[in-house]
Amino acid sequence: MRGFGTTIFAEMTALAAETGAINLGQGFPDTSGPAAMLDTAVEAIRSGVNQYPPGPGVPELRAAVAAQRLRRHGLTYDPAAEVFVTVGATEGIAASVLALAGPGDEVIVFEPYYDSYAATIALSGAVRRPVTLRPEQGRFTFDPDELRAAVNPRTRLILVNSPHNPTGTVFTRAELEAIAALCREHDLIAVTDEVYEYLTFDDAAHIPLATLDGMRERTVTVSSAGKTFSVTGWKTGWVTAPAAHIRAVQTVKQFLTFAVSAPYQLAAAYALEHEGAWVEELRKSLQAKRDRLIVGLEAAGFTTYRPQGTYFVQADIRPLGLADGMDLARALPGKAGVVAVPSQVFYDHPQAGAHFVRFAFCKKDEVIDEAVERLAAVSLGGGPQTVV
Ligand SMILES: *Cc1c(COP(=O)(O)O)cnc(C)c1O
Repeated sequence: MRGFGTTIFAEMTALAAETGAINLGQGFPDTSGPAAMLDTAVEAIRSGVNQYPPGPGVPELRAAVAAQRLRRHGLTYDPAAEVFVTVGATEGIAASVLALAGPGDEVIVFEPYYDSYAATIALSGAVRRPVTLRPEQGRFTFDPDELRAAVNPRTRLILVNSPHNPTGTVFTRAELEAIAALCREHDLIAVTDEVYEYLTFDDAAHIPLATLDGMRERTVTVSSAGKTFSVTGWKTGWVTAPAAHIRAVQTVKQFLTFAVSAPYQLAAAYALEHEGAWVEELRKSLQAKRDRLIVGLEAAGFTTYRPQGTYFVQADIRPLGLADGMDLARALPGKAGVVAVPSQVFYDHPQAGAHFVRFAFCKKDEVIDEAVERLAAVSLGGGPQTVV
């Protein structure tokens, strides 16, 4: 694990604390989830749900997840054998990669990627093979030929995150079909990270890869309660997959953490069953917050890419006359009192993301307004520079 050091989030959050800056770096909401869901967790603790739950998860949550996949996407999973509860999506992804890839294997990831992917692949002993998402007509996408060229006889897995952090891209059916075709052709397993499955904007729709032809049998789907219900601190997630894949994931997970905090599982089950309207309100409010932040960032001189989902917006710093997002992110808290994350840390080819910084908009309106006022009030760069 040499080379993985401390994450950029630790560094930037420490900077925020030191300078009193507004933290638009890390993606956690500054409000809590639905009250009845919070009550369910409290109630569970008070009524004695405080000992080890079953390793695969409590039956209530496994049933609620299976019902959700069926209701929203027409996908059928057996709650007893094909649904499995994990410590957040992070453990679901880690257990899946550790179970399904190892030394000598390659794992394809789209860069910029969520930072745990690289570390998890390294822990498994496999090699990561990045395919770069680049801006094209206002959104980030991949070149299908580049994806195809990344596949070779050692390829085992492909990690697919849609809606995508940090670019905000929601993969279209055509993009997913390109991924699915390769999986079918080369007998690859897809591990999908769908933690933002409810948080899509405008007319973008989340399509689970498992719904495509021939993909249910070769897809391990990972999601969690954190983003959907604004409880990122609960670390309650789940995996849905064919039984054989679940058995492999379970073999690993039982020795990582054995089981997942019982009261939160009951609360997540409740929320999946009963809080759809609350989530729809969250989605609408995030769409408005996205627009609020984008207008402010553009006024401050950034070029932005309007995300189709997630909490995040990618801002190009070149119109400010700047080239290196790392330098800007390190200077921003002191200079403007705002924290952002340099996107280059999410790349194997940092030059592809050098000029982007990521801002989170899952914050109260007044926090977003204050941040963009601060950004507009200072001179961040050396005047306009040609954008190529
Ligand atoms: C937040 C996030 C996760 C982590 O989810 P947890 O349920 O908190 O473990 C995983 N993937 C992506 C893309 C995320 O943004």
